[in-house]
Amino acid sequence: MTIHFDFDNSYARLGASFYRPTAPSPVAAPHLLKLNRRLAEELGLDADQLGNAEGVEIFAGNRLPTGAEPIAAAYAGHQFGNFVPQLGDGRAILLGEVVKRQGRRRDIQLKGAGPTLFSRNGDGRAALGPVLREYLVSEAMAALKIPTTRALAAVATGEPVYRETALPGAVLTRVASSHIRVGTFQFFAARGDDEAVRQLADHVIDRHYPEAAGASNPYRALLEGVCARQAALVARWMQIGFVHGVMNTDNMSIAGETIDYGPCAFLDAYDPATVFSSIDRNGRYAYANQPRIAHWNLVRLAECLLPHLDPDENKAIEAAEDVLSGFADAFNTAYVDGFRAKIGLQTPQTEDAALIEDLLGHMARQNADFTVTFRKLGKAAESAQADGAVRGLFADPTAYDGWAARWRQRLAAEPGEPSERRVAMDAVNPAIIPRNHLVEEALAAAMAGDLAPFERLNEALATPFGDQAEFTDYAGLPPMSATAYRTFCGT
Ligand code: AMP
Ligand code: MG
Ligand code: MG
Repeated sequence: MTIHFDFDNSYARLGASFYRPTAPSPVAAPHLLKLNRRLAEELGLDADQLGNAEGVEIFAGNRLPTGAEPIAAAYAGHQFGNFVPQLGDGRAILLGEVVKRQGRRRDIQLKGAGPTLFSRNGDGRAALGPVLREYLVSEAMAALKIPTTRALAAVATGEPVYRETALPGAVLTRVASSHIRVGTFQFFAARGDDEAVRQLADHVIDRHYPEAAGASNPYRALLEGVCARQAALVARWMQIGFVHGVMNTDNMSIAGETIDYGPCAFLDAYDPATVFSSIDRNGRYAYANQPRIAHWNLVRLAECLLPHLDPDENKAIEAAEDVLSGFADAFNTAYVDGFRAKIGLQTPQTEDAALIEDLLGHMARQNADFTVTFRKLGKAAESAQADGAVRGLFADPTAYDGWAARWRQRLAAEPGEPSERRVAMDAVNPAIIPRNHLVEEALAAAMAGDLAPFERLNEALATPFGDQAEFTDYAGLPPMSATAYRTFCGT
């Protein structure tokens, strides 16, 4: 039996300057850790076949499926504000694109599949912990209805990777609408190759922003589209307490998906200044900075597109500034709309933004847990008898009482029954998120050879908005010891 992906590789057709052909390097003893059967079916692939020996060989990079054109993509990027003219896929190899279902085109990429021309001093490999971490968190994000790359499979390589110590190696099969980044545009712009920038822009319009093709200036419409999707995406991150951790321009997807789960983490107690990444010494990528950084990255994208916005440079700059100035409003609208739903409001009122900010301010000062507070607020919206469970989350519970009185007044002006309100709130306030300590526990067990906690957490995270009786242990507050959490750049 042979597995057919029916690849149609539009990126590879862009031409030689966009990538380097690179075959995955085979590994010693691959075995399947996890296959995402639901995603396989969504992609029109045969999950049973993918789970057999041939599938595992493919996911390990030991066998190339028919029609694959393995490549390492070229890209540049600003890392923590510093421009690096050449980064590229140093350990990821794109096998090709599948379009089987609903005409939706998606990249199938092996991450950790061996060295490429872009590896610099890296080994091209990934360790098992970070691979399973990306699997868990990216799939959780999908279940939370946040645009994201997906995880199709994780395989162990049977080979060690050497970091500070020897660790078991693994390969993640990542699925994305595309792997084109802001940094992909920067790669060509930095070389003064305006023609390649235009070609890339045309490809991106065709692939991700078809509505821009008919605009009077498609490149301006493209910039508008990317800004709109990033504004919406970062607002969604904020609404579930997600800290990306490494919002370099090479980690910002042009399609508007969350990409690169290296040092990401979730807020426990609400603190907008939260930074998790050990290498982010200045807090550049702190929770509250994310919209500003997204805007900064979009300015870098606009710089690449300038030659195509208008032949007159001043007019091009004006056009770019015009588009970019819309980002703050787009973000704020998406941010307030999302939080409005989180506190059970449907009909917008001007005072809502202040009501939301006041709640968040109290939460920050009173050390209230982000996820549990909003989840329990749904119960309180149904009945004031549930107030006790919310106020107990605040170091000084009276801070909640004052706010709750205003909130109830505001709720009184809303249509709908309290029970319906609770249902609507539960649909946007998850009970279960991939909390840092839960992910770490699952990974520690996996490293010791026990995949059961990983499987169980993965299953719970697939239904984050339900009150799942069998998973109440995931829905509670984190242990006190979890408060000084640090992440290390995903290796
Ligand atoms: P990141 O910080 O994950 O966005 O990665 C930045 C750059 O480092 C990208 O070009 C990656 O391909 C590259 N890179 C990360 N880890 C490795 C590795 N183990 N081997 C080779 N290149 C790597
Ligand atoms: Mg990256
Ligand atoms: Mg990374």
